[in-house]
Amino acid sequence: MIDGRIDELVRRLTEARRAVALTGAGVSTESGIPDFRSSGGLWQGVDPMQVASIRGFLQDPKGFYRFWMDKFARLVTAQPNVTHHLLAGLERGGHLLSVVTQNIDGLHRKAGSERVHEVHGTFQRARCLQCATSYPLAEVFDRARRWEVPRCDVCGGLLKPDVVLFGEMLPPAFREGEGDVAQADVLVVLGSSLEVYPVADLVPQAKRAGARIVLVNRQPGPYDAIADLVIHGELGPVMEEVRSRLAAA
Ligand code: NAD
Repeated sequence: MIDGRIDELVRRLTEARRAVALTGAGVSTESGIPDFRSSGGLWQGVDPMQVASIRGFLQDPKGFYRFWMDKFARLVTAQPNVTHHLLAGLERGGHLLSVVTQNIDGLHRKAGSERVHEVHGTFQRARCLQCATSYPLAEVFDRARRWEVPRCDVCGGLLKPDVVLFGEMLPPAFREGEGDVAQADVLVVLGSSLEVYPVADLVPQAKRAGARIVLVNRQPGPYDAIADLVIHGELGPVMEEVRSRLAAA
């Protein structure tokens, strides 16, 4: 039965003229980066409001860096997997307009995707909270390792990774992504629990604007009922199958 659905996925992707992919942490678990909500995910045993909110960061920057230190390191060495590569290929082939991603790992760009809206920011950079001077990630790691709390060379302000923490506004990339979704003919949602707003709202928005909705995820989610095609499965094997069918076409 899943075979027929993969055929339909291939058809919808290749017939699309302005597909947009909306991706979540599930596309990167096969690159060795845990998601938040699966068992063994990042949230197990911690209070997200302490380690991933702007309030928690300001209250205890040392604790924040301590929690994220080894996870940062994993982000730097992670490599894109078949899903990232497939999306980059679809963009090159003219089927995919862009990727709107909740991920902060930079793997879509590493795979060669060019139009990527990183709606929750990126771990590639950090920024001074006082004077906004920007620093590359690797340098901030080094500072966090040496000083525990990385500070700005220019003004001594606190350096914060350029990711959106709970309690912060979304960057302009969100509006840009929303603009692409508004003109999409197909919205392909991959590896997202769709529990984080306002990003999750892009799905019903796209539906209302006339896009076909395609969802691929390990487990059911809140928008399965309004989707035109739902595949519950592991992204790696599903995307490998899509890739080989595209190659054979
Ligand atoms: P999430 O953890 O809420 O959901 C991930 C979903 O993907 C889950 O439903 C899970 O069952 C599914 N999944 C995991 N691995 C899969 C696989 N191999 N195949 C199919 N499905 C799989 O993640 P979210 O929806 O992206 O929202 C959480 C927030 O976490 C986002 O805002 C994002 O910024 C952040 N985050 C990012 C990263 C990253 O950059 N890689 C990692 C963890 C969390």
